[in-house]
Amino acid sequence: MKITIIGTGYVGLVTGVCISEFGFDVTCVDNDAAKIADLKNNICPIYEPGVEQMLRTNSSAQRLHFTTDIASATVGADVVFIAVGTPSSKNGREVDLSFLFGAVKEITPQLKNGAVVIIKCTAVAGTAAKVREMIAKARPKLDFSVVSNPEFLREGSAVEDFMRPDRVVIGAHDSRGREVAEQIYRPLKLQSTPIRLTSLEDAELAKYASNAFLAMKVTFINEIADLCEKTGANVMEVADIMGLDERIGDRFLRAGPGFGGSCFPKDSRALAAFARSVGAPQSLVETTVEVNERRKTEMARRVLTALGKSARGKTVALLGVTFKPDTDDVREAPALTIIDALLAAGATVRAFDPQARRDAEEPLKKVNWCKDPYEAAQGAHAVVIATEWNVLRALDLDRLREAVANPLMIDLRNVHRRKEPARHGFKYISIGRSVAEANQALEHGRELRVVSG
Ligand code: NAD
Repeated sequence: MKITIIGTGYVGLVTGVCISEFGFDVTCVDNDAAKIADLKNNICPIYEPGVEQMLRTNSSAQRLHFTTDIASATVGADVVFIAVGTPSSKNGREVDLSFLFGAVKEITPQLKNGAVVIIKCTAVAGTAAKVREMIAKARPKLDFSVVSNPEFLREGSAVEDFMRPDRVVIGAHDSRGREVAEQIYRPLKLQSTPIRLTSLEDAELAKYASNAFLAMKVTFINEIADLCEKTGANVMEVADIMGLDERIGDRFLRAGPGFGGSCFPKDSRALAAFARSVGAPQSLVETTVEVNERRKTEMARRVLTALGKSARGKTVALLGVTFKPDTDDVREAPALTIIDALLAAGATVRAFDPQARRDAEEPLKKVNWCKDPYEAAQGAHAVVIATEWNVLRALDLDRLREAVANPLMIDLRNVHRRKEPARHGFKYISIGRSVAEANQALEHGRELRVVSG
């Protein structure tokens, strides 16, 4: 079976390397020539654990190829996966399907009889049906199938998620599309992965509903964290107890500065806008989007307030810029809102992130990028932890204390045990763990005191 994948971003590349690992012949296409040049040299353009190794193995086994030439890559292909981006539209609300429809237009002239087009992109219900219409209109005599096969991988553990998913969803309108997709995922079926065969629309909607639900879960615990701060409760204890209930589960119950990334924000907004447009508004999802936006701003305000009357002339060490650890992705990361607010208030930002620098340095030119947390902390009036990278859990707090000008730590991910930074001389503010901490932080930078551990 000859398989072509359009788009070599987080999803397309991981799909490509993993499917070639199953033994199929895979050609990955991208219109970003620099990306393809890197991939041809076995250089992975994204930071994603495990990808580079599989890239090397399968390229040298001649099963995995890269090109910018979409026409030649799709001639004779049995299966064409489309994994291009589906970002937010210009107004930031609806999903922008122009890359997806653009790719469909580019592949249509070459599709052979019997070809199966598999949509990996996250796209609203009705998109796959529209793709069918587009192809049928351009090639009325072509016999082809369209499948919706949404991807559920998480950045940072994408290979593991692809190879051991909770489920594979195959939405199809005919048996050929369904059977071809099932054949590709057979190695996963053999390891007892649940494979759900369903309609195009069920598959499309299940993806959005899953992301929106998880975004809502994160937002729920963030609001509970606010309540903990008012009542003296500890959100980590509350979340732990909630998570022991199998009906709830303990994942996505970590309070923090709000969700970010390339999926939850844009997919929640897209679902809300789409649902409204078809007359079935999703008020929980709409509220989740609003609350999360507010939270990011509120976290920036928390940092500014802790800095005192004015942030002008002060230096902040921002540790962690990506939206979560083990990725280089900074799209809609809460750290960006905090950086913007600090710069607007006249502060200097010294940032450290193990992976973000390569992509974030250019857009975040006003930030001083540092090689490690200690360099970032030099002369800082506050240290802010915005991403829970492991390297930030194991900080040498004595060394950090020596570097800073003012020992104030604002831990937006509850990376540290409350007593630990205090033991090393830091005033410590965290999330949802103490009414005293929160109140004092909000009282215009008055001296902070850690009340309990
Ligand atoms: P991405 O932006 O990282 O990559 C998309 C790639 O497609 C880019 O390299 C771009 O150059 C390429 N591209 C765009 N148009 C093209 C064309 N006409 N021909 C060739 N290449 C083209 O996107 P991503 O994060 O991999 O997301 C892809 C899809 O998967 C989206 O719908 C997204 O919502 C969904 N998704 C993403 C994740 C994730 O964690 N990133 C998880 C699940 C689902």
